[in-house]
Amino acid sequence: MGRIMQKVDTLIITGWVIPVLPEGEVLENHAVAITAGRISAILPASRAGELEAAETLEMPEHALLPGLVNCHGHAAMSLLRGYADDLALMPWLTQHVWPLESQHVSEEFVQDGVNLALAEMLRSGTTCFSDMYFFPNITAEMCLQAGMRAQITFPVFDFPSAWGTDADDYISKGLTLRDDYKHSELLSIVFGPHSPYTVSRQALEKIAMLAAELDLPVHIHLHETAAEVTDAVALNGERPLQTLADIGLIGPRTQCVHMTELEQTEMELLAVAGASVIHCPESNMKLASGSCPVAELQAAGVNVALGTDSAASNNDLNMFGEMRTAALLAKLSSADATALPAARALSMATICGARAIGMQDQIGSLEIGKQADLIAVDLSGLESQPLYNVISQLVYATHASQVTHSWVAGRNVMSERLLTALDAETVKARAQHWGERISAGRKTS
Ligand SMILES: [Zn+2]
Repeated sequence: MGRIMQKVDTLIITGWVIPVLPEGEVLENHAVAITAGRISAILPASRAGELEAAETLEMPEHALLPGLVNCHGHAAMSLLRGYADDLALMPWLTQHVWPLESQHVSEEFVQDGVNLALAEMLRSGTTCFSDMYFFPNITAEMCLQAGMRAQITFPVFDFPSAWGTDADDYISKGLTLRDDYKHSELLSIVFGPHSPYTVSRQALEKIAMLAAELDLPVHIHLHETAAEVTDAVALNGERPLQTLADIGLIGPRTQCVHMTELEQTEMELLAVAGASVIHCPESNMKLASGSCPVAELQAAGVNVALGTDSAASNNDLNMFGEMRTAALLAKLSSADATALPAARALSMATICGARAIGMQDQIGSLEIGKQADLIAVDLSGLESQPLYNVISQLVYATHASQVTHSWVAGRNVMSERLLTALDAETVKARAQHWGERISAGRKTS
């Protein structure tokens, strides 16, 4: 009696808490408390009475885990979902995606496409994503409206688009955007040179210099296909990774997306540099680009995160599907069923993603003091029975629709599958409007 109880904003009492660190740990019948947007306590449910919560949620058949981190995508391209399928990367890009983008991409296109992506990502357990697309200023605004956390990379190309004229223009607009959001709690703005085959060496050198000066991450498509590597060797006499390393672009803040073509010495180079690799298995499989040697990279000491890539080459933004595919593909491609176990796949979708974007002290695991970016997954359904191993169930047998609640920085962004800051009907109507507009343009052109 008379004891002062610790006050918390929200207390979530669940069947299982998966902290992710340490990898593989499952805390049965535990509770997580949120105070001022951060995790303030993780304790057995039997001790939840020690806390005085403004709001208490009891979810005895849910698992609570860190929000998933989708480390690579192009959110606005969700409007191209299913527009051009069953093609290899270069014909897909040059004959379909780029011509359509030059015709349709605008602020309005990006706004509607990003909202569609945000709704899908939040409804499938993603609470932080990395994006690369034109009009990143619009993407930033939409993220803040929806309450989503993001690393927004501003694209750099040599060629013009609706957003910029040349590499210098993209860089200058991107750095202005970075200044605008320098103090944002949810957003970071970083360099996103598209790839070594769309950005000149001169522009890449400028980015390397600026990134070092400003201590900013660089996110780039790299070694996506074997052809990219052989073409570069024919043109420059060396492999693209070597070119970037020579320029000084491969360091601890570099995020190399795809990496399906890797030699042993290159894995060592990445490990020594401390660079991260972003693995996008479903996009790589669909475009028949190749497969990233995930287990070998991890054995070499390289941080490997996961991304969906855009809905135009996946065709969804579901990180539960991506975890499962990553685990299965690693086993198939290495002929080793022990490669990439479930707990490792979950780490890749959470803490490894956080590490890749330099946010490992803030998100990616459930630890006291970290940002309260959490998701609750309903395991009460028949498809989750029987429950021998919760992490195995989450990776191999969970549908994205089992995610019922999400929080970003302690703010509830989805409750009982309803988004709190996005109107699903409006998002759908806008997507359908673009579908009709793009289809009509295709018929007349
Ligand atoms: Zn991509």
